[in-house]
Amino acid sequence: MAADCIFCRIVRGESPARRVYENAHVVAFHDIAPQAPVHVLVIPRLHIASVLELGEEEVEILKGVHEAIRRVAEETGVATTGFRVVTNCGRDGHQTVFHLHYHILGGRRLGWPPG
Ligand code: IMP
Repeated sequence: MAADCIFCRIVRGESPARRVYENAHVVAFHDIAPQAPVHVLVIPRLHIASVLELGEEEVEILKGVHEAIRRVAEETGVATTGFRVVTNCGRDGHQTVFHLHYHILGGRRLGWPPG
């Protein structure tokens, strides 16, 4: 856990978040600045800075991430219409919070490629 990390504070319940799903490894909550009608973030409970820090030891966390993605998609209704899962990494990838997170975006027709 990182003391000054906003997502660690959400995991600990010290900062408010509209949680939609959680399991032993991850928490999912609505993004504070939604870019689509459905915009949910899935984050590991453990402080991991980005995908660059994932290794074989984190395989159970990744299983938890994928379980969360499926459950959130079903519960928000986008499982039937389609959605996108994105993780931004580093400066050029537009990562602004350095605690690994996966965006689930849906509820409208998404453009491709992203800007
Ligand atoms: P990034 O740009 O890929 O790092 O995404 C960070 C995301 O976190 C952005 O979409 C922000 O709107 C979102 N965000 C930042 N702080 C909070 C918060 O306190 N609650 C919910 N979402 C947040």
